[in-house]
Amino acid sequence: MATPTYQIFAIKYAHVGRKAWGNFVDGDPHEDWDMPLDYYVWAIVGGGRTFVVDTGFDAPMAKKRDRKIVHPVEAGLEAVGIRHADVKDVVITHMHYDHCGNGALFPNARFHVQDTEMEYVTGRCMCHHQINHAFEADDVSRMVHHVFGGRVQFHDGTDELAPGITVHKIGGHTKGLQCVRVATERGPVVLASDATHFYAHIDSRRVFRVLYNQGDMLEGYDTLERLAGAKDRVIPLTQKASIVVADMDLMDGLKPEDHIWSTKPGGGNVVYRDRPISNTAMQSWWAHETKGVLARAGVPYRNMHVTRHTFATRLIRLGARIENVKQLMGHTSIQTTVDIYGHLGVEDARADLRLLEVEV
Ligand SMILES: [Zn+2]
Ligand SMILES: [Zn+2]
Repeated sequence: MATPTYQIFAIKYAHVGRKAWGNFVDGDPHEDWDMPLDYYVWAIVGGGRTFVVDTGFDAPMAKKRDRKIVHPVEAGLEAVGIRHADVKDVVITHMHYDHCGNGALFPNARFHVQDTEMEYVTGRCMCHHQINHAFEADDVSRMVHHVFGGRVQFHDGTDELAPGITVHKIGGHTKGLQCVRVATERGPVVLASDATHFYAHIDSRRVFRVLYNQGDMLEGYDTLERLAGAKDRVIPLTQKASIVVADMDLMDGLKPEDHIWSTKPGGGNVVYRDRPISNTAMQSWWAHETKGVLARAGVPYRNMHVTRHTFATRLIRLGARIENVKQLMGHTSIQTTVDIYGHLGVEDARADLRLLEVEV
């Protein structure tokens, strides 16, 4: 019998605003653009069965942690024809509050959890606030009750839940995080959960702030790509980003291709055509591409960061209006342009004072 294929529903239930730097261990305050987080659970339907992946959090938890529920999980499931109380199988990718809350929603479900995750959330690591703040003791103790109630199916590494549905331990973000690989009509789809929060993480090989083991996290990116196979991904571009790109094209007559580099700079930061470029990837590309050109022209090399600062300072010194410098630098606020990028000195102040001298 052929392996069944499944439909996957992504159900967004909550949202939180955030600046980009807040999403990376090595976040730089210059990365001051909006990079909000959306919260999802997923439903896998096919072969006469339904699997829900993660349970999200409820309204009191949203209030406690200052998140915004956009659509309660039960309503989202209902919208795709799933009654939460009828669900028999729930995969818990990991035990963070945003993945295993909503305690009352699945009274008839069996929960699929990795051995390592259960050991992790009941062991010594939870003594550390730096790690335990993303967990809720109530969620953990409820899962312990489920263990005693015979409602937890443990997995150790890779396991098959049904023909065409497998779980794979990744670790990294938490010690026992697992992803789910699902057979669909367009090939295998991997629900990464927090193994990569954004494409920006997997594409630039940078890591999210909440972390158990950086090595496992980075290795996990390779595992995700291997499990997914061909990567014909659609990269979401926010409305704001599209407007900015469109504006740039109007300004200097460049085609979109001119903003998207198709170069392989080596190292971890491979730059692909038609994909947004992360800051790290761009810097790596810059270093790789400009060194040779500048050396041939007899110009000393400066990294992208220094070049951007010099560019902004030179413009300001030459009298460019600050609103335009902000626009050219892509800053979200003039504050950044003035406070961080304008390196004017005493000589510049003297030059400005000379503006008051009356010519005779
Ligand atoms: Zn998480
Ligand atoms: Zn999460």
